[in-house]
Amino acid sequence: MQRVTYDWRGAGLRYYAYNFHQRNRWGERVQKVSVDGGFTCPNVDGTVAIGGCVFCDNRSFSPSRRPRGKRREILDQIADGIRRLQTRYDCRKFTAYFQPATNTYASVDRLREAYGAAIEDPRIVALAIGTRPDCVPDDVLDLIDEFAERLPVSVEYGMQTKHDRSLTWMNRGHGHDALVDAMRRSRGRKFEICAHVMLGLPGETFEDMLATADEAARLGFDSLKIHNLYCVRNTPLEAQVASGEVRLMEFDEYLTTLVAFLERTPPQVVVERISGEAPDDWFVGPEWSRDKPRIRRELLARLEAADTWQGRRAAGNETEQGGSKSESTGRSPASATMREESPGSVGQDGR
Ligand code: SF4
Repeated sequence: MQRVTYDWRGAGLRYYAYNFHQRNRWGERVQKVSVDGGFTCPNVDGTVAIGGCVFCDNRSFSPSRRPRGKRREILDQIADGIRRLQTRYDCRKFTAYFQPATNTYASVDRLREAYGAAIEDPRIVALAIGTRPDCVPDDVLDLIDEFAERLPVSVEYGMQTKHDRSLTWMNRGHGHDALVDAMRRSRGRKFEICAHVMLGLPGETFEDMLATADEAARLGFDSLKIHNLYCVRNTPLEAQVASGEVRLMEFDEYLTTLVAFLERTPPQVVVERISGEAPDDWFVGPEWSRDKPRIRRELLARLEAADTWQGRRAAGNETEQGGSKSESTGRSPASATMREESPGSVGQDGR
């Protein structure tokens, strides 16, 4: 599928913000409504590991606490979610976002029932499916392709990092080769592909994180969700942070890394997120990462000050001359408003 890339540079932006892409694509705001399809995760049920990723609060994935993901339940979740979102946003169209746990970890029949239920609501105009790269057998990708013939579908893979030692630290239960394999079988299909990436993983240097940026560029995602490693309650990471075993990134470090990461990200890649989020009563730290407007503001200020932009140093696109396109068009990037879409639900979202 050939996704349209809108002229974000011509609009005066410094990176290809999701909100800009969505407004051009749909002509109006399209908000994500979170759906719990009742799935669990092979990293929690013991299939590949026990306990889940170190940053994931996966208590809600236990079978006794989960909805069964039946048609009526999913329709009710969507109706409730839309009702809540409409108290905050003027919005008529929505993406059903299968968010918690691993949303391809079931039989094709069960997945068909869940995805099919979600699109019964006429306000749902797109699907997003969060999953792990080791949970997408070909018959599941074929099923997702079927849905992508009917409406836009995005599959979100948890990449996090290209470094296996970091994946081992986080108790991921798979190596980077799983993502390479998933991408080999996913590219060229009808759905779009998003990747989650985390900055500030223990032991990773600035250069290590830029190597992840280069690898993400090589793999060819349509969009990226980038955020710092942050800590929520009731996770193994909470104890590691409390004991000082793990240090969470400082604000300045994150921004410096994020600017360099974006410079290496190809210009056609939509940046869906530059920060993570968790409910106030679960959140441990770092405190700065809860202030999303400040992160956005400071990122823009740094991009401005350095007169740089997304893709400036991406492979095959390195350029030091000519200034930014915004200069050549006479528009000021600083005058553009960029606002990340706020997902319809909160919680550590690092699949
Ligand atoms: S972050 Fe994703 S892969 Fe890791 S335990 Fe949680 S649901 Fe499973």
